[in-house]
Amino acid sequence: MTRNRQLRVMKFGGTSVGDASCIRRVAEIVRNAAHDSDLVVVVSAMGGVTNKLIEAATQSEAGDRSSVEAIFTALRNRHDMAVNSLVHAPEQRRAVLRKMQDCYEEGERLCQGTDLRRELSLRDRDSISSLGERLSAPLVAASLMECGLRSEAIEATEIIVTDSCHGAADPCMEATSERCKGRLRGLLRRGIVPVVTGFIGATPEGALTTLGRGGSDYSATILAAALDADEVVIWTDVDGLMTSDPRAVEGACTIPEISYREAAELAHFGAK
Ligand code: ASP
Ligand code: MG
Repeated sequence: MTRNRQLRVMKFGGTSVGDASCIRRVAEIVRNAAHDSDLVVVVSAMGGVTNKLIEAATQSEAGDRSSVEAIFTALRNRHDMAVNSLVHAPEQRRAVLRKMQDCYEEGERLCQGTDLRRELSLRDRDSISSLGERLSAPLVAASLMECGLRSEAIEATEIIVTDSCHGAADPCMEATSERCKGRLRGLLRRGIVPVVTGFIGATPEGALTTLGRGGSDYSATILAAALDADEVVIWTDVDGLMTSDPRAVEGACTIPEISYREAAELAHFGAK
């Protein structure tokens, strides 16, 4: 039955997963969409988290341990609060907290190494800035389970194969497609909604890479192409494409229709 259903990739950005009540809305949206199509969900880090992680990386390089510690404490508090309010099943909660603990420890270890060397490698910068997505994906997957869906968090390092251009990696589509099909198709057949970390991938040798700031949209389109999905939906702060940034221009409105070419041109000149 599942095989004939449409496949949709849905991406939720940092604002959409910014706190427990936002994530609850995401879970509602996903539950409704799961009635009539197979879904792969892609998530960003909770809003602001990637900036904080990069700040931690930079402060480590400068040797400012107390700032780094403060950043990790705030990250823990923010994510713990979300877990407490969203994930109630004891086993699920333990599993999510364990994964999160691994992320914090990895982040702290990387920051300590950077501090000792007083040098931030591009590779460590990528690994540290990837932690936000690696924290949010298990949280969102557990929230979907709380809503009665079957779900599994997937680290994109397993399925998006990239070149080794740290900070702005590009996917190798053939290898990515093979991995995506191998890892995700089986889950979809079993009715499981994969929740994939946006923003990151890995080289064929397994070194974590990032696709560039704001890269989760790119992740979603890579996965959609790799899986021959019917549709990719980017959930974001505004509906559709707007005439200008509504934060900057009063009276900005949604463009009713636009060609791919015009959209590409807008993007080329810096529109989001
Ligand atoms: N979290 C990453 C960033 O802030 C990727 C994304 O949100 O798209 O750049
Ligand atoms: Mg974004």
